[in-house]
Amino acid sequence: MISSEEHERGWKAEIARRLEQGDGLEFTLGQFAQAVGTAAGVGALREFLNQAVETGALRKIEAFRCPMPECKKVLSPAGAPYSACPYCLTDYLEEGVEVVAETFYQLVGKTSRDIRWMIVVHGMNSRAKWQEEFSWQIANRLRYSAPVLIYKYGWATIDVLVCWLHRKLASQLGERMRIAIAQAKASQRPVRPDIIAHSFGTHLLSMVLTDPDFEDLKFGRVITAGSIIRPDFDWDSLIENGRVEAVLNHVGGKDIPVLIAQFAIPRTGPGGRVGYTANKAINVCTPTFKHSDFFLTENLRTQIADDGLWHNFLTHPLEHFTPEGRLVPASWKRAPLVVRSATRGLGYALFAVLAPFSWLRRWLDP
Ligand SMILES: [Zn+2]
Repeated sequence: MISSEEHERGWKAEIARRLEQGDGLEFTLGQFAQAVGTAAGVGALREFLNQAVETGALRKIEAFRCPMPECKKVLSPAGAPYSACPYCLTDYLEEGVEVVAETFYQLVGKTSRDIRWMIVVHGMNSRAKWQEEFSWQIANRLRYSAPVLIYKYGWATIDVLVCWLHRKLASQLGERMRIAIAQAKASQRPVRPDIIAHSFGTHLLSMVLTDPDFEDLKFGRVITAGSIIRPDFDWDSLIENGRVEAVLNHVGGKDIPVLIAQFAIPRTGPGGRVGYTANKAINVCTPTFKHSDFFLTENLRTQIADDGLWHNFLTHPLEHFTPEGRLVPASWKRAPLVVRSATRGLGYALFAVLAPFSWLRRWLDP
């Protein structure tokens, strides 16, 4: 025998699930009973829902339903009283039937969100394979016709050591984003793209976000993976100022390059390992992931499939977003300047001497 408390726990879980997914927010008593089973009796369930109405978690809406068996459409209270069905056009008086009053419950929550369109900023010298896979997956698994702009900046090797080259690459990225946003506006798409950035791409993104020249660019939800952005990067201000809707930092527990980044690339840090310390940032760690594991076909598929981490972050209302593996970062301090300068000098010399195209490529973007 299941206790009434256990029943109630199941009902609460169903409500939490609907709120979290932003789906099924409106239902009748009968529909809800069907979802949770009616073992406890419909009376107890009605009592439970009415209590939720009193606490303000639910809204009660008295609507109507067409009584014709082949129609049964819900009729909004705004159009009452109904003498005929606006859908099947049955004249109720003529048919000798009456419209059925029906109580709906509406969960007070945000509905799920569509992925609008997306800009992907990859790491250095990324191979085309995962990019093709990514576009394909987005187009197919997500069932949205969300265009994906994959930003390419070609080969970069020794460039990563030099600040002014970063600025040049970042401003090219910013300009490209501005054009894409203008095109979205012209074709009546939402003007804020969602962003996925990886590795060196996260650094370029952070430069665009802090560059006053690009203050006009606003973004939807941002995912960073294998991030070399500093853990103390000020995401909170960007979110408060409406530049970014939200940020998900996907951390790989076995990501080594992000730990080394600050010693080789100026103004970077191990965000992809430590996490972001900003209050509003969402850090999630997959303990087994190395630097580029996020984009292995199978992992990518899992992340953007229904109920995958990235899919949920991009589509669910975030007030109830509680992913597994949430990481709360400890405070972080940069390595001393003298160490960073020395290693950078050393790195520069090494790169200059060895011209290590392939080594760097393997190192930052295996
Ligand atoms: Zn009807």
